[in-house]
Amino acid sequence: MSLAEGKIEFDETDFADTRAAMQKWEHFPASTISHHGGQCCQIAREWVLSTDYSQLNAGNPLTGPRWIRQKYTWGASTWPIYWCEAVEQKKLDCGALAALTQEVFAARGVRSYHAQFIQQYSEAATRQWSNSWNCDEACVHWIKEDLIYHEGCAVAVRDNEIRLWDPSAGWWVNPRQFGGYGGLLAVRVFAPQFNAPTGFLWGTQRISPNQWQKIERVRGDFAVAAAK
Ligand SMILES: [Zn+2]
Repeated sequence: MSLAEGKIEFDETDFADTRAAMQKWEHFPASTISHHGGQCCQIAREWVLSTDYSQLNAGNPLTGPRWIRQKYTWGASTWPIYWCEAVEQKKLDCGALAALTQEVFAARGVRSYHAQFIQQYSEAATRQWSNSWNCDEACVHWIKEDLIYHEGCAVAVRDNEIRLWDPSAGWWVNPRQFGGYGGLLAVRVFAPQFNAPTGFLWGTQRISPNQWQKIERVRGDFAVAAAK
């Protein structure tokens, strides 16, 4: 995205109904991959973890597993999804991609938490996704006007400092958020009730666990940078 597309003059984020979106997705659980309890899923799961092991190739365990995004195109998944089904797919949705990634980080011994995002796009973009999801309006439960529900992983890099991995994009989300197209409006990081950190640090922002939280936006210097 170029700076010109950043909608600096007219900042739509100010008008985004983040609060209503947080309410809509208040009871949305983070996605997990189901297990048949048999060999079919056991073999599939081992395949994912051993593929990650070889892709990582003794590299830094905090490296984002981009191979998952390279193997699966982002698209609709049917739920619940089992390990043996997930590995056979050509397309996986953001929940399935995040759930696989979560398992991969855990297997590496990295502390990772389920993370949910609310992002802003445009009504044109979300309409297109609705259509490509190939079902009626009600089925596209992850879209609310120009806002979308999205999933990723909150990876602990040291103590309670986290980085947010977006497995569908294959990148770390920038903690300096400027708003506009693709901007992150809110995040929820799930931490277990027992022995959980009381708060996380993402960039300069404190994130409380287990609740939707609005993201602070960087102001000012973006416009200055664009004018140069
Ligand atoms: Zn199975």
